[in-house]
Amino acid sequence: MTLKRVGFIGLGAMGLPMAKNLLKAGYELHISAHRNREPVKELKQGGATEHTSLGELAAKSEILISILPTDKEMDSVLLSEDILSHLSTKSILIEMTSGSPAMMKKVARAYEEKGIRVLDGPVSGGTAGAEQGTLTVMTGGRSEVLEDVRPVLNAMAKQIYLVGEIGAGKAIKAINQMLAAMHMVASAEAVALAEKLEIDKEMVKKVIGNSSGASWMLMNKIDSLSERNFTPGFKLALMKKDVQIANDEAGEMPLPFAANTLELFKDAEKEMGDLDFSAIGKNILP
Ligand code: NDP
Repeated sequence: MTLKRVGFIGLGAMGLPMAKNLLKAGYELHISAHRNREPVKELKQGGATEHTSLGELAAKSEILISILPTDKEMDSVLLSEDILSHLSTKSILIEMTSGSPAMMKKVARAYEEKGIRVLDGPVSGGTAGAEQGTLTVMTGGRSEVLEDVRPVLNAMAKQIYLVGEIGAGKAIKAINQMLAAMHMVASAEAVALAEKLEIDKEMVKKVIGNSSGASWMLMNKIDSLSERNFTPGFKLALMKKDVQIANDEAGEMPLPFAANTLELFKDAEKEMGDLDFSAIGKNILP
């Protein structure tokens, strides 16, 4: 089956470069403006078609992709009658937001009741991965649905994993985000201590990069932490949302480091929600 018409909802830091890669790969792209018209203008220049409503966009979509900020937008946008009543029963929803497993299951139930197939597919790899088409997609759902949309995912991603049923993609993404947030705090503490002890960051990269304390986060964020460059990237408020999901999923189970990390991000979000999530280091670095 060749599915060529793709509707894309959520043209932000991730969605815009992902949508551009779909255009590059020859997909017919259907979009609609939310508040910011800039990504719409840019994609139209690349050949995308703009629609005045999400219903109109849905009506044109064989595949509908969404990558929205949070559960709240998943609920209000994806469960709107405008979309649900216009999507063909032959279409497939690929839901790529880092949301909660429960919200993913709620959305999937509503679509599957109408006969629309659904794939849960949050991503990792950041804006650089989105630009380069090298994202990791953590899918949840049926393997035959994944196979039908695999060519579309291949245009945006390098690694595609089927983790389990609907909701399992969101679950493993929450675990990844919990670790990423902890590693970010740990990296900021390492940079702070290295500065105090007058160890040059290049030496940290060389020595710790080959030692047991190394992490992807330290190696990739040490420069921006050292430069106090907190331009997003990935907004701190979105990372707080992810750590919240992980803590919510843990429930009564004690995860002391995750609980502490959540408190740090909650506190930082008040003033720095729109900065990069590495701005958590502002409260740690001298
Ligand atoms: P952004 O805030 O940059 O983008 C969100 C996009 O959603 C914007 O285009 C916004 O439009 C749009 N949007 C918001 N509300 C609506 C709505 N009601 N209807 C239609 N569109 C809407 O977020 P990111 O792209 O950074 O993140 C998106 C998701 O991907 C999040 O769940 C995040 O956790 C996850 N993620 C982010 C990564 C990153 O590095 N940034 C990496 C991996 C996952 P407008 O601007 O016009 O309001």
